[in-house]
Amino acid sequence: MGDFREHVLFGFLAAALVSYFLKDMLVLNPIETMVSSIAIVVGSVLPDIDHKNAYVHRAAKAFFSIGLAILGIVFLPLPLHVRFAVASGIFLLSYVGFSSIRMKHRGFTHSFTFLLLVSSGVVVGGVYSFASPLPGIAMALGILSHLTLDQEFKMT
Ligand SMILES: [Zn+2]
Repeated sequence: MGDFREHVLFGFLAAALVSYFLKDMLVLNPIETMVSSIAIVVGSVLPDIDHKNAYVHRAAKAFFSIGLAILGIVFLPLPLHVRFAVASGIFLLSYVGFSSIRMKHRGFTHSFTFLLLVSSGVVVGGVYSFASPLPGIAMALGILSHLTLDQEFKMT
């Protein structure tokens, strides 16, 4: 249940509900508001990274393979034209390789363990980069809204 559009919609609605109940406690500066909103949206679609036709899977694949190729162009100790040639190989291998990792749909990425791992990572990153745990909490809320819409409630 739930395609990309429904998951994003449900994520925003979950955020509306939670911020209504916490309205007396929540005071967000504009940066926190923006990063947390992005975290809600990313969290609400992230679990479907295990599905190769999902937007988030294809987007992650594009970022991952292009990112690796560009790292190669920037850091390999080779003449520039060789780096570009090597980068084409890196891109192709990682692009094809990404989708060949067979993950069971609605497996690990649709579990509370995944929710906790990803959200704690974002909490740490948020606290470290601008002293706010809110993006991580928003990420948890986004993933929770995804699991709720999919009706998946398992630990691993
Ligand atoms: Zn899903």
